[in-house]
Amino acid sequence: MGGVETGGTRVRCAVGTGPDDVRAETTVPTTTPAETLRRVLEFFRAHTEITAVGAACFGPIDLDRSSPTFGRITTTPKPGWRGADVVGALRTLSVPVAFDTDVNGAALAEYRWGAGRGVDPFVYVTVGTGIGGGAIVGARPVHGLVHPEMGHVPITRDSADTFAGACPYHRDCLEGLASAVALSQRWGALPETLPAEHEAWRLQARYLALGVAAIAAVLSPPRIVLGGGVMRAAGLLARVRAETVKTLAGYVRAPDLVPPALGERAGVLGALALAQATLAEAGVQ
Ligand code: ZN
Repeated sequence: MGGVETGGTRVRCAVGTGPDDVRAETTVPTTTPAETLRRVLEFFRAHTEITAVGAACFGPIDLDRSSPTFGRITTTPKPGWRGADVVGALRTLSVPVAFDTDVNGAALAEYRWGAGRGVDPFVYVTVGTGIGGGAIVGARPVHGLVHPEMGHVPITRDSADTFAGACPYHRDCLEGLASAVALSQRWGALPETLPAEHEAWRLQARYLALGVAAIAAVLSPPRIVLGGGVMRAAGLLARVRAETVKTLAGYVRAPDLVPPALGERAGVLGALALAQATLAEAGVQ
């Protein structure tokens, strides 16, 4: 399988069948779509043994196979990438192409090989520059009208929080209030420089718990992985767990909140899993 995860700053490519069998890997910087995709194709063309390729891509993306813009990135604020035809580029490899969001890819990888094994429904949330969530229901990544955008759920603002919010579309949605960008703008310092006792973390745990409660109310996953750079802050996961229990107020059980098992490779491993799934659906062994 070939797998490619396109991220905001870099694109990871891998050839293999899973976390214990990665036979080749490379990372290319995310520059223009033309330059970036050219280097991705160069890598895969050197591996003629691949029988399918999966792409786990930052979004929003068009997953509707009947749409004229299927396989493209749509309303991203990332300069130059609006309309980028990821699937079109990969189809030049002449193997089946699977396509999904980066977080659905990561969710699928954690579900198959990591912290989500045996858990269904299962949700993977990343809290970094942005906030995104992927969901597995019935062993498959959830698609829909578009695809889940869990980072953009509206949440209740804390009455003491005067920060306007960082989301260019909604201002104070979950991502607008609790992403790394929001933290940096609200406190005037990078999240990794804020000490554990800083007021930022009480508020951060509260906001993330509101997001988790929304996910729990809609999908009822027994377990949710919380990953991404912001979640590496000391003690944050434990505080989100406690706040989630408070937020749900005993009405329903709180899902287990756990760190990812596959680390930064979850996305590209998910792309390998997507490629495998596409071959399985086509009846190819
Ligand atoms: Zn938003």
